[in-house]
Amino acid sequence: MKKGSMGRNAGEDGDRAMRAEPGHGALAFLRKTVIPYKGIFAHGKRLGKGRPHRNRRARRRPAGLSPLFLVRIGCFMTPQRSGQYRNFADYKRQRARMARQLEERGISDEAVLAAMRAVQRHLFVPEALQSRAYEDHPLPIGFGQTISQPAVVAFMTQVLETRPDMRVLEIGTGSGYQTAVLAAMGLRVFTVERVEELHAAARELFAALGVEGVRMKLGDGTLGWKDQAPFDRIIVTAGGPALPHPLVEQLADPGIMVIPVGKKRAQRLLRISKRDGRVTARALGDVAFVDLVGDHGW
Ligand code: SAH
Repeated sequence: MKKGSMGRNAGEDGDRAMRAEPGHGALAFLRKTVIPYKGIFAHGKRLGKGRPHRNRRARRRPAGLSPLFLVRIGCFMTPQRSGQYRNFADYKRQRARMARQLEERGISDEAVLAAMRAVQRHLFVPEALQSRAYEDHPLPIGFGQTISQPAVVAFMTQVLETRPDMRVLEIGTGSGYQTAVLAAMGLRVFTVERVEELHAAARELFAALGVEGVRMKLGDGTLGWKDQAPFDRIIVTAGGPALPHPLVEQLADPGIMVIPVGKKRAQRLLRISKRDGRVTARALGDVAFVDLVGDHGW
């Protein structure tokens, strides 16, 4: 870590944890190389709601109608519409499978799993890549950026140990997938992105999907969001050479931040904790995020 600053008190705790943890149990999946990518939000802001109306109706069979009659009605559906039904159901199944795999790999926070089941990641990736949206890979989202793989999104979210209504600062809106996952958990999200096109696209998508509880800013996230500080939680989804001190300052006490720090494309994922004025860092595993660019980044 070049600029060396994990916070003055960070050294000891961090070193101990770095030796003890990487690659064990729940964290084993972090041994895989990971890069942030993008995903999407479901048809509603809160979990358990927001399934498209159409789908609910499709599942209910009106009393007195025979299955054959329904099959015949089905024949009048345009291929395009029936394709939409099939995709919707397929993607839902794929999300359920993804959540089961996350559980097997150590994600145990029910709120995180529910959000991962609810947010439609395929809507946050380029159309040509939608069929791969529920595989555990980062995917390109344009402008040299990527949407993180689901395992990393789930893991970082779990590390935050959130409670509903907490104020969370996210650096690197990107596709908006991670933002949408946090919003689905009932958090108040403040997200900063430096690429104008990504910022604008995410804004449009949130509006289209009815994602609520998100405030967005275009700018250098390594400076944080001073007017809105302090934040109970901070999540940084791009990797820089050191821990940006404005973020440490803007973290509430008590507060938790999760951030990749290290070299380009090869970082340690750190859990920074602030408590009673003391800042400590713990390494959780190796990751490979895109660059955190800015005054306190690359
Ligand atoms: N959370 C995103 C991940 C996107 S990749 C998602 O779910 O899709 C990381 C993002 O961080 C990129 O969009 C990149 O432009 C952005 N970024 C890099 N440095 C930044 C900075 N200093 N401030 C704000 N955003 C930054």
